[in-house]
Amino acid sequence: SKLVIGLTGGIASGKTTITDQFNKLGIDIIDADIIARQVVAVNSPALAQISNHFGDEYILPDGQLNRNLLRNRIFANEADKLWLNNLLHPLIRNNIINQTKTANSDYCILVAPLLIENKLNQLVDRVLVVDVSEKLQIERTMLRDNSSEEVVKAIIASQVTRSERLKQADDVINNDDLTPSQLIQQINSLDKKYIALTKMV
Ligand code: ATP
Repeated sequence: SKLVIGLTGGIASGKTTITDQFNKLGIDIIDADIIARQVVAVNSPALAQISNHFGDEYILPDGQLNRNLLRNRIFANEADKLWLNNLLHPLIRNNIINQTKTANSDYCILVAPLLIENKLNQLVDRVLVVDVSEKLQIERTMLRDNSSEEVVKAIIASQVTRSERLKQADDVINNDDLTPSQLIQQINSLDKKYIALTKMV
């Protein structure tokens, strides 16, 4: 079966920058964030289950999920969070598995900010971690999202630690001070390595 690379890293580590580059090389990208939104799309069965369980107000007048309301609810209540995860995680996993099976490129990449936290690394053959110092994570998030240092620190605290993530890594890109062309070089050599691996299986 197809070689699947899991790509993960903390907030603003460079996942999108890196997947864009792999995509330019023709590699199919499976994005866990996009799938997580698709499973609760307008008129989806999961969205109906959410509104049956939590209330009609969890669907906005335009039919979309009321994300803010749901986020606040599960933030404040562990049992609700568990219920939601039990509903969504199997749907997300099945969707990911289907997409890896139908990928056309030599290998494919599953990009997931919470690859390790949500145990999605079980679905991949290798883990590629994009690592960056906390200082730069904070700087780059504040610059990109216009968010406060406190908010960024809270998000970092909610994710697995850098060392925990690195323990799971088969390959690492350190994105602390890479120029764009250095980053491209690293991605090109990983691409060669992954293609070589597909010939061994
Ligand atoms: P998130 O998990 O928050 O979606 P991400 O891991 O996808 O983030 P990116 O959006 O790719 O991260 O990168 C975060 C920011 O840092 C972006 O504004 C990006 O342009 C910038 N950035 C990425 N790599 C570098 C680099 N090597 N040098 C300078 N800036 C960089």
